[in-house]
Parts: sequence; C-alpha cells; structure tokens
Amino acid sequence: MRKDNIGSAWKDFYRGIWCYLRNNNGVVMLASVIAASTVLGLRYLGSLQILELKTFDKMITLRTSEPRDARLVIVGITDADLDTYLGTASVSDQVITDLIRKVRSHQPRVIGLDFYRNLPNRPGTQELAQVFRTTPNLIGIEKVIGNDERHPIPGNAILRAADQVAASDIVVDMDGLVRRGLLFPAADSARILEGFGLRIALEYLAGEPTAITPEIDAPALTLNQTPFPPIEHRTGGYVDMDARGYQILLNFRQQEHAFEVVSLKQVLHDQLASDLMRDRIVLIGSMALSRSDIFYTAGQRSEGSPPIKFGVEIHGEIASQIISTTLEGRPLIYAWSQWLESLFIIGISLGGGYLTQQATKLWQRLTFIPVASLLVIVGSYGALNFLGLWLPIVPTLLGLWVAAALTGAHRTSRLQVLSAKDKLTGLANRRTFDENLQQLWFKALRSQQPLTLMVGDVDHFKKYNDTYGHPQGDDCLKRVAQAIRTAVRARGALIARYGGEEFVVLLPNASADQGVAIAHAILDKLNAYHLPHSASETADHVTMSLGVTSFIPQLEIPPSALVEMADLGLYTAKKLGRNRVQLHQPDTLNRLMLDT
Ligand code: GH3
Ligand code: MG
Ligand code: MG
Repeated sequence: MRKDNIGSAWKDFYRGIWCYLRNNNGVVMLASVIAASTVLGLRYLGSLQILELKTFDKMITLRTSEPRDARLVIVGITDADLDTYLGTASVSDQVITDLIRKVRSHQPRVIGLDFYRNLPNRPGTQELAQVFRTTPNLIGIEKVIGNDERHPIPGNAILRAADQVAASDIVVDMDGLVRRGLLFPAADSARILEGFGLRIALEYLAGEPTAITPEIDAPALTLNQTPFPPIEHRTGGYVDMDARGYQILLNFRQQEHAFEVVSLKQVLHDQLASDLMRDRIVLIGSMALSRSDIFYTAGQRSEGSPPIKFGVEIHGEIASQIISTTLEGRPLIYAWSQWLESLFIIGISLGGGYLTQQATKLWQRLTFIPVASLLVIVGSYGALNFLGLWLPIVPTLLGLWVAAALTGAHRTSRLQVLSAKDKLTGLANRRTFDENLQQLWFKALRSQQPLTLMVGDVDHFKKYNDTYGHPQGDDCLKRVAQAIRTAVRARGALIARYGGEEFVVLLPNASADQGVAIAHAILDKLNAYHLPHSASETADHVTMSLGVTSFIPQLEIPPSALVEMADLGLYTAKKLGRNRVQLHQPDTLNRLMLDT
C-alpha cells in the first residue's frame, strides 16, 4: 500500500518534470544546458585554449593606451651601440663600468643590470668588480630555470655574495608569446630568488618615503595591503598551463615603448636631461635585434613591425606593474575561478535560449542574438580595460550561439510538426497528404509501380454525434484513427485524416489485393472495438465503409484521379449497405491506359 503511494509519487514527479520540459521554458533550459555543457567540455579538453588566448591578445591590443611609466628609464644597448663600442657581439667590462659610473652619477634609486657578467670580458674586469662592490643599489641577474635550449646561468660572484642578484627567467606560452610574469621561479635549490622585475620593484618600494615591504607568508604576496594572487593551471583561457613557481598575468602598458629609452651612447656622452634618472629605476639591457634577448607579445610595436619586446623591457613591465598596482591601484589582470566562469557561461547560454524563444517577429530574430553577442564582446572589453578582468569571451559566445541555434531548431521543427499533423487524431492532415500524394504519384509514374489508395468514412456518424454529443464523437474519431493505425502495418504507408470523419491510407508499391486486405484488416479491427452506436442502421456499434483503388500512374492522368476513384468505391460501399470494402478498378482509366 505504502509502496504503491511512493510509486505513484515518483510517477507524478517524473510526469511533472516531463511536462515542464515539454513546455517551452523547459526546452530553453535543456537547449542551454546542452549548449553550455558542450562548450564547457570542449574548454576543459583544451580545444578552445588557442582561440581564447588569441581573443585575449586582441582585446589587450585594443585597450586604451596608458601613459609611460616615468619611474623607469631603460638604457638600451642597441645594434648601433655594439658597432660603436666594440664591433663584436658583446660589451666589454670597461664599457659597462663606464656606463654604471655615469648612471650612478645621476643618483637613481635602483639600477638593474640585465647582463650576467659571470665571466670576465676584458678589459675593465677589475674596475667592474670594484663598481659592483661599491654600488649597493645595483641588482644583477642569474638564470635559475634550465631547459633544453638554455641552461641555468650563475650571476656575477660579487653581486651574488652581496645578495644583489635576481632571477631573469621569462616564461613563454606554448604559442611563443609572453603573457605571464614570474615573480618567483620554481627553483630546485633551497634558495628562493625573486624574479628580476619583482626585485627591482621591491627595492624601489623600500625607498618610498614610508618604506613598503612585502608580506610573503600570506597565501599571496601582499604589498601595501594589495594582494598579488598567483595564477593556477587553469586561469582564464589557460588549460593545464605550467604554473610552477609564482606567476601573475602581465598587464602591459600599450605604448610604442612603455618607458623612456636612452642609448648607451647618449649616456656615455652626457646627452641626457639632468633629472631623467634621479630617484628612478634605471634598467640596463640589450636592445639589439642581433642579440637573442627578444620576446614576442600580443601588441604590435608599430604598424607593420613584429610584436616584439626585449627582455629588459619585460622585466621593466613587471616592475612597473607591481609598483603602480601597489602605489596607485592600477588593476592587475585576473580571472574568475573556473566555477564562476562556468556559471557565467551557463547563464549567458540560458539568455541565448531565452532570447531566441522570445523572438517571434522577424526583426527580433535578426537582431536579438547579434545584439547579445555584441554586448558580451563590449562588456568583456570593458571589464578587461577598466577592471583588468579577463572574461571567457569565446566559450560564452559559443554557448550563446549554440543555445540559440538549438532553441531555434526546436521551434522550427515544432512548427513544422504542428502544421503537418491533425490535432485530434495525431495523424497526418490533409495538407501533408496532398503533398505526399504529389510526390509519390510522380515517383510511381517514373518507376511505373502501382499506387494504392483507400478512403474510409464512418457510417452514420451524424447520428452518432446527435446521440452521444460532439465531444464523444471526437473520442470516437480517435478510436477509429487508432483502429486504422494498428491495422496498417505496411512499410511506407501514409495514413491521414482527410476531413471530418474521412480517413485515407496511401500505399506505395502495393497491389489492389494487398490494399483490399489491409482495408479488411481495418474493418475487422474497428468491429472488434465494438464501440456502441445505438442509432446506427447498420449495426449496434460503430462501423465504417472503405473504397479502394489501385493503378499505375500515367502521364495523362492527374494525381487527384486516385482520390476520385477510391471515392467512387466508397460510394458503392455505402450504397451496398455500409460496413464493407469496395474495390473500384476504373474502366475509363483502363481504357485510357490501353489507348496509350
Ligand atoms: P454516412 O454513413 O452516409 O457517412 O452518414 P454520416 O452521418 O456519416 O454522413 P456524413 O459523412 O455526411 O456526416 C459527417 C458528420 O461528421 C457531420 C459532422 O457533424 C461530423 N463531423 C465532422 N467532423 C467532425 C469532428 O471533428 N468531430 C465530430 N464529433 N464530428 C464531426
Ligand atoms: Mg462523411
Ligand atoms: Mg459518414
């Protein structure tokens, strides 16, 4: 007893869900969930990664340009410098010594030297060692992470002993572009070294009027209460990216050069404004295209030129980003958690399905989804430009479009079904029958196969309505339809409600005998139902009469002849006493066919 109750409660529950899904909102839900899960699945598998990263790049390059960071000056050693000062591919210790002495005389706050200088490069090695010993605000580099192409490179021994080195490692994405910055490389050794850009920034911030020192024990590095959360394997559009060490997304300043750049020659020949370097950061590094310290980024330097940045510029960008975020709250680039992003994608997909469902007029169908797409793009652009938020544009747009397409396809097919079917019986309606008759007629005409048609009409149905009422009459018609449906098993048969209480069955490739047999099967079925009909003059239950015809279509005869011939059979069946099948093999037609 209790079990039954639970069983029926479950049945009600399922029926409720089914009804909800059958109703349009359910379709929108279902279409959107299918769309969103497909997109999320593709995203999870990494199929969208390159597309997402390229879209991100495009957004980055379209951002409004920011002013140069005046806190940073780069002394770039150019190809021209190399020609002038040595004629070989490397600068001697003497030139570096002279350069640092000159820079030092301008009293910068921090000097970053983006050269290893771990091996002597005479002349001037002694002098350079002396300069290193006496310049406490100078930071040099070493390469911490080795890979197949580049091995770890130790820093200069003197700087290293004085703890004046930082890691020069730069992480490159699988498509060769730099989008991330290493704050701390993942080192095998116990010694934890800051990245070059971070170290420069920390030195600069320590020299602020109220010195800012980092808190590193928190889950994220925090400066002046601003956290710099590290990115994870799946951040934004990245899928299983190598997130080792401590990395943040780079927020490049969109400038031809993000910083003032001067050449070695300008410094050595005192061609600088007197306060250009005072209390600022001076980074010294290679800006020679003939050297290897070149990286690709999303942004083009200028029209037609390759989107490259020199290593020293990337370190400068990292330092500048950390300082301006700490001091001025310039946004970092960040992304939502994967969960929040997924919810967003599902939400927008739902919106796509809903809008498609709501769009009934032509102009609405033409504009809703394009406008929604545009809003997603503009919104994502705004979020990235003003908040630094990297939204999942590609999966969101895909979800929106797929949900809209699915909802639209469902609506179209539903409308087609609605216009093709008879509402009361669920059989094909007259329109569908007429269309099919045309097609099958010409097909049979080509192949010269017989086409068989039967027309059935319920006997004394007017009286049935008068006796039992119209609603009961409707129920009776449903039962008649059921009898026909169960009796007709022939493949390719088309059953239709031709009108009121008239039904037709079109049988391609069937002979007259087969048609008559099927008609009898229908009659037997209906008689077996034994639906009471007290006013019938033929029997005590509902009966019907059927006319059958069958012939091979000929060019001279129109398709409607088939219906006319079957109707004549029906007429005869009625006249002969109803509740019977009458075959009508047309003499006129036979004659016509013999003539040709
Ligand atoms: P006969 O045996 O000669 O066919 O007699 P009949 O009374 O069936 O004559 P006829 O075919 O002219 O009557 C058709 C009737 O079917 C008239 C109409 O009231 C009824 N009818 C037509 N469509 C519907 C319908 O959708 N529902 C119901 N309940 N009745 C319908
Ligand atoms: Mg009739
Ligand atoms: Mg009738």
